[in-house]
Amino acid sequence: MIVAVDGPTASGKGTIAKALAAHFGLPHLDTGLLYRAVGRQCALNGGNPDDPFDALTACAFPDSLVADPELRSEASGGLASRVSVHPEVRQALFRRQRQFATQPGGAVLDGRDIGTVIAPEAEVKLFVIASVEARAQRRFAEMREGGRDVSLDAIAADLAARDERDRSRKEAPLVAAPDAFLLDTSELDREAAIAKAIALVEGRVGKTAR
Ligand code: C5P
Repeated sequence: MIVAVDGPTASGKGTIAKALAAHFGLPHLDTGLLYRAVGRQCALNGGNPDDPFDALTACAFPDSLVADPELRSEASGGLASRVSVHPEVRQALFRRQRQFATQPGGAVLDGRDIGTVIAPEAEVKLFVIASVEARAQRRFAEMREGGRDVSLDAIAADLAARDERDRSRKEAPLVAAPDAFLLDTSELDREAAIAKAIALVEGRVGKTAR
């Protein structure tokens, strides 16, 4: 079974995808990390993330870069959002994601275009959303815990800018597949959101389906 989990930044889709993978015994791919690695590699190369050639060159990042904690930073998220606009970059990362999705036994992938472009045949598609306020609060708490001095307003502004860029790009914009379940986590805590996602998957494919 392929499970596609899409949605905007900090909506909870990564947490949900990881929990679904553990619950159903499936491998999980956070596709945002691939775009973050391209963005980071582009910066390391001294390239311009808005330039399609520089961004494409950065797609040859070493596998070890995916484990770099720096990829989790807001700066890497911003760079990812800029390189991901280029169709050349999306094409370069397509095969890797597609292979992961179609491996025997199935997989869970989270991103922006899993249900629409990478695996439109996915048995289950979730589109996870949450208000900008709820998402900014989560990021704020996460970053404060990590000892970073950040302002809530700056995070909210950054999220809104990133949403706008992801939604308005021509290639594979952030949009729910017509057959996706909408899961709004604004008012849900972690456990409630995960329970709801598991129930949605089970409702679609049954309790034992893999
Ligand atoms: O999900 P995450 O915040 O790690 O993604 C970082 C950026 O990578 C997103 O803002 C988006 O622009 C891009 N991305 C994408 N397609 C995906 C996953 C991420 O365009 N499947």
